[in-house]
Amino acid sequence: MTNPGLAVRPDEIRRHNLGLVLRQVHLNGEMSRAELTHVIGLNRSTIRALVSDLVDHRLVVERVPDTRTGAGRPSHVVGPRHDGPYVLAASIGVESMTTAAIGLSGAVLSRRDQAIDAVGAMPNLIAGRIIADLRHHQRQVPAGARLVGVGVSVPGIVRAADGMIEIAPNLRWQSVPFARLLAERMPTRVPIRIGNDGDLGALAEHVRGAARGIDDIVYLAGDVGVGGGIISAGTSLRGSGGYAGEIGHMMVDPVGDECGCGSIGCLETKIGEVGLLRACKRSDQHGSRAMVDAYAAARAGDPEAVDGVAHTAEWLGRGLASVVNIFNPRMVIVGGNLSGLVELARPQVEDLLERHSMASLLAGVQLVLPGLGGDSSLLGAMEIGFEAMLEDPTSVTA
Ligand SMILES: [Zn+2]
Repeated sequence: MTNPGLAVRPDEIRRHNLGLVLRQVHLNGEMSRAELTHVIGLNRSTIRALVSDLVDHRLVVERVPDTRTGAGRPSHVVGPRHDGPYVLAASIGVESMTTAAIGLSGAVLSRRDQAIDAVGAMPNLIAGRIIADLRHHQRQVPAGARLVGVGVSVPGIVRAADGMIEIAPNLRWQSVPFARLLAERMPTRVPIRIGNDGDLGALAEHVRGAARGIDDIVYLAGDVGVGGGIISAGTSLRGSGGYAGEIGHMMVDPVGDECGCGSIGCLETKIGEVGLLRACKRSDQHGSRAMVDAYAAARAGDPEAVDGVAHTAEWLGRGLASVVNIFNPRMVIVGGNLSGLVELARPQVEDLLERHSMASLLAGVQLVLPGLGGDSSLLGAMEIGFEAMLEDPTSVTA
């Protein structure tokens, strides 16, 4: 007996297949129909029909390449439309915010970086700033380009289902229905997704950064807070509530300092901004600029800064050793201002990593900086902003 509820309707298959083709173009940029046929594993005529559908939906363009190599007709090339769909991506930090209009394959059409003071700020004011930026970006994008989604990265714990920020300790935000605050202000109705900055950084590095093609990674990024994201066997490790990966709140010192999360001795208290500046005897300073200054002083040989950086790097190494032991990654990516620690004190980080992780687990682990520089979380926000359209390209009206 067959269950009619399980029957897959032809239009569902078509939507799914359209999504497969569009996702490939999004991931790789221009691709020939022959490559699409090979990667997706459907036959040539099906791919041709799917591409033609996507062209009709004004999502991609198809052209005949002008260079001929070898015999036979060259395969048509499929690429994103320059005036095709785009998302509004936003990355909210403690002291800065970036918003951008980004097209398929990660083409940044318009971008705005601004200093903000998000700590204790009214979340609705920040939502208002994002919408103001959207209006600015809408004037910059090519005529005809359509907004298809919004993705926002926040340094906090987010309930993915409805975009509720449960807690963002370093912003002092709690129970903020951020997706709703944005939706109420949006000029058009599009899907809005909110994600944790560490998870989104890991996602973007996996999809188009340093970890492209590597399926087991740990991503750690820090400035005031220290966020993390884990990808295991190619899938984002989410946990039961979707909150996994809070590497910064791994307790490393039972007699340590109070952390913004309410616990004590979290890794964040050792390697975050406050910990680094204290170790460098610069507790009277704060902010990203102060971290950069401390690194510069260490580079110039200032003894207190040199000691402080080495000490902080050791904590980073200890923390990473536990992470390596638990998750067995092939790559560990250290981003945000923490990347400065790896640049300056890689030997100390590696020494502690070696001392505290098990040899079999550490073998072959690469410790690298983000391939996307400071934009990992922003581009991760872009990825979740596109997700609804990639699941069903027919949801976008031509
Ligand atoms: Zn904590």
